Amino acid sequence: MDFLILFLLYVILVLLTILLVCLYSGRKQSWPSRTIDWFAQVLSHVIPSQVHGAAQRVLHRLFHTRHCLFVVLHLALEVLVYGEYTWEVFGYCQELEFGLPLLLLPYLLLTVNMAFFVLCSKTDPGAITKSNQALFLRAYAYDGVMFERGAKCVACSTRKPARSKHCGVCRACVHRFDHHCIWVNNCIGAFNTKYFLVYLLTLGAMATTIAAVTAAFLIQVVTLSNLMLGYYTDDQGQERQVDAFVVIQHLFLTFPRMVFMLGFVIVFAAILSLYFCFGLYLLLINQTSYEWFKSRRFKSGAYTNIYSRGVWGNVMEIAKPLRIPEPKRR
Ligand SMILES: [Zn+2]
Ligand SMILES: [Zn+2]
Repeated sequence: MDFLILFLLYVILVLLTILLVCLYSGRKQSWPSRTIDWFAQVLSHVIPSQVHGAAQRVLHRLFHTRHCLFVVLHLALEVLVYGEYTWEVFGYCQELEFGLPLLLLPYLLLTVNMAFFVLCSKTDPGAITKSNQALFLRAYAYDGVMFERGAKCVACSTRKPARSKHCGVCRACVHRFDHHCIWVNNCIGAFNTKYFLVYLLTLGAMATTIAAVTAAFLIQVVTLSNLMLGYYTDDQGQERQVDAFVVIQHLFLTFPRMVFMLGFVIVFAAILSLYFCFGLYLLLINQTSYEWFKSRRFKSGAYTNIYSRGVWGNVMEIAKPLRIPEPKRR
């Protein structure tokens, strides 16, 4: 089953790349970034310095400046998946009399997802400026371990409020900094974490419903054609009963785009669901991704999360974050 191994390797490679990009873009000291840095150092001894310098500039522009490349990539992937869903799955499922509300559900989820994508990328995550820093300085207590009183941001030349962090991509300190997301081209901070969670939830739901409808259609095809009851002749000329691998190969050859898309959305749905669960866990314990990853570096007992206010209080802190008062009119 060479084609299956190749197909799985391709899906794993694509998703591993996406995962590496997500992790690398979020934290400079993460293990993927250190691995990439190590590879870059090794390569610098092999390839000419001009090529190495140019590659470094491209990588820097790609991951450390704001641009729309990943947003376009993300939209292109959605267009491809929804194109295939509309072009093939939707029509075939209608012929097999699948319920229309079920078939329309992915479009509804897409509409909600797009709305929250825009909210996520256009909402100010909580950029700290000279005019609002006094408010943010009062928002949280300093824990004295991860956030030290009196710490200053060299880049912004402002005092750093507790739970804030400077984002090199957005070039600003962000209140309750979670991470910088290249897919929405914005930081995730105090004011857009709630939108980000709904965005993740709907993205995962989109992948799950498309995977479920496509899988249900393919199962129907196999059932109605009695494919599993058939026989085939193997390479040695022996007649064998059709097994699951032969069925998958048959489906892949009959509906190549659909099976490819199904493999892609299944892995994507699994990754997004896990990521959403992680986001939900952080919401319930009142910790940001940045704090969670940084807390792993402290010895056990050296760091305690002092910001939890109970489950309800933690949920409300994200749902109704600290509001910046409007400037007074004269
Ligand atoms: Zn700063
Ligand atoms: Zn940022």
